[in-house]
Amino acid sequence: MGLRRDRVPPIPHKGIFIKRAPSEIKKMKLLFLFLATLAGIACLSTGANTADTSAIQPISDDMTISETVSGDFYKNLPAGFEMPKDDAGLLLLREYGAVFLARGGAKPPTKVVFRDEADVISFQAELAATSKPIGGVKVELQAAAMNALSNAITEAAIAGLAIEPRGSDSARRGYDQTVGLWASRVNPGFVHWVGKGRVTQAEANRIKALSPYLQVPEILKLEQQGIYFARSLDKSIIYSVAPPGTSQHISMLALDVKQFENAKVREILANNGWFQTVVSDLPHFTFLGVKKTELPKLGLKEVTNSGRTFWVPNI
Ligand SMILES: [Zn+2]
Repeated sequence: MGLRRDRVPPIPHKGIFIKRAPSEIKKMKLLFLFLATLAGIACLSTGANTADTSAIQPISDDMTISETVSGDFYKNLPAGFEMPKDDAGLLLLREYGAVFLARGGAKPPTKVVFRDEADVISFQAELAATSKPIGGVKVELQAAAMNALSNAITEAAIAGLAIEPRGSDSARRGYDQTVGLWASRVNPGFVHWVGKGRVTQAEANRIKALSPYLQVPEILKLEQQGIYFARSLDKSIIYSVAPPGTSQHISMLALDVKQFENAKVREILANNGWFQTVVSDLPHFTFLGVKKTELPKLGLKEVTNSGRTFWVPNI
């Protein structure tokens, strides 16, 4: 699985229905399978104690991708957005990028990867954030996201339903939680590959001495040579843990919902600006703060999989 995509952001086909050859659709599905697998770990990137792969669904053959496009994703990114220049960053933008379009009083991050804990703390400190106990759990979100969530909870209650967080880390997350998980794959990986003679001890030591932020491109580069760092050592680390600093939960615009299986709950959340934006990560919702009809205009496309609707960057 290559990560080499040295593409310049393409110009979207405005308002055009694009017909694709079956082989191309198959390729797109494979790409989505890859991205979705990466996506599946988006909200699992912190806290091994809460990582729950049971909610991650594989992409099925009935996946459909809306091809009608009217908005330019890149044009709608927040002011000062730091466009990633490396393969890993571009991949993460394609995967988690919907959150960067959050509207309705939300302040999205302006970078794909937070560099370290201080970087996350500095971003979160600037947010109009609020905290509220929901379902016995302290939930911390940006105020706009919390207001919309409160409205959704009220609406759900009228219908006799509840909307609650799945666990104690279902909303706000920090950076450092991601680092331990990353190391839990990188360190045994190096023991294995040094033992096999594929990596020198000196090279392993050099990479391990780097910050997690700088380790990510180094590890992905080794993986291009088949030197994999997933726990099973036969596939990319990104199938195993998310790179540190990339979780949507850092933005305080994401929530993992306990009642995610309930279609009516999903509908109520969507009506209040909370959408699913990470394909195959079923409990994960993202506050985008607009009506559903606005999403294509922002440059998102609809992906249907496992009977769910996901909104992802149309890039
Ligand atoms: Zn999540």
